[in-house]
Amino acid sequence: MIDKHGRKIDHLRISVTQRCNLKCEYCHHEGELNPGKEVSEHEIKRIVKTLARFGIKKVKITGGEPLIRKDILQIVRNISSIKDIEEISMTTNGFLLEKLAAKLKIAGLTRVNIGCDSLTSVLPKNIEKVRNAIRAAKKVGLNPIKINMVVLKEINDKEIEKMISFAKENQVILQLIELINIDTDFYKKHYFPLDNIEKKFEKKASAVITRKMHARKQYFMDNIIIEVVKPYKEDFCKNCTKIRVTSDGKIKPCLMINNNLTIFKNKSSIKKALETRCVYADD
Ligand code: SAM
Repeated sequence: MIDKHGRKIDHLRISVTQRCNLKCEYCHHEGELNPGKEVSEHEIKRIVKTLARFGIKKVKITGGEPLIRKDILQIVRNISSIKDIEEISMTTNGFLLEKLAAKLKIAGLTRVNIGCDSLTSVLPKNIEKVRNAIRAAKKVGLNPIKINMVVLKEINDKEIEKMISFAKENQVILQLIELINIDTDFYKKHYFPLDNIEKKFEKKASAVITRKMHARKQYFMDNIIIEVVKPYKEDFCKNCTKIRVTSDGKIKPCLMINNNLTIFKNKSSIKKALETRCVYADD
């Protein structure tokens, strides 16, 4: 799969539900506006199998909260049985991870991102649950483990240092993420640019690398790796090799694209989706 900008597509981000056990006001819901009926575990397998034939090698499972799907283990098992899929990762709020980590690993999950925006009770996250989730994920060998922190002005921006210490203590990678605008009033009030923080990291880091995907910088510092995700950075989409599938089984070319989503059927639906990628790429 090569899109019209010449990018080879080998990553799939698939949402398996829009239901969630948390209600974060700023959640982008993976860009799904009016999700229809959730696709079945069999349909997910068919979709991923077809996409694998066209070059998908890495799959990220997301939601909603993927772990609230009762058949999540079967979904992971099904994906993992597909030839050519090399990596299955998941982004989760971690609330059910302690209980499911071992079974997920056996089912074929390789690694996890755990959403945790606050160490206090300011945001609807429970730090004890996250700590236990990390412990369980480590124990069974899900690796690497990343903590996702969406940084919000006047809500959790003062917690960055604490979060760095937490990530060090627990030996996980910390991803600091700039807010994506899903509600302009909220965005204007709470968008927190990470440029100044990055300048500090640059001085402290023993090494800095820029990942191809999303031009994310990774700072290697004393006992910790911090990754900075800036969705509005001009080269964010330039090397994007990802395609999305929504929880109701539509191909979605990009988080930001919501019109003309194609119901996944066959090669022609993939082709159509690739033609609309990506509004932000400069060619
Ligand atoms: N429930 C899971 C979780 O908490 O990770 C998966 C779904 S959630 C939509 C996936 C990730 O999207 C979160 O971990 C968070 O880092 C990121 N996210 C959600 N809303 C965002 C926003 N408005 N801007 C930037 N990132 C966001």
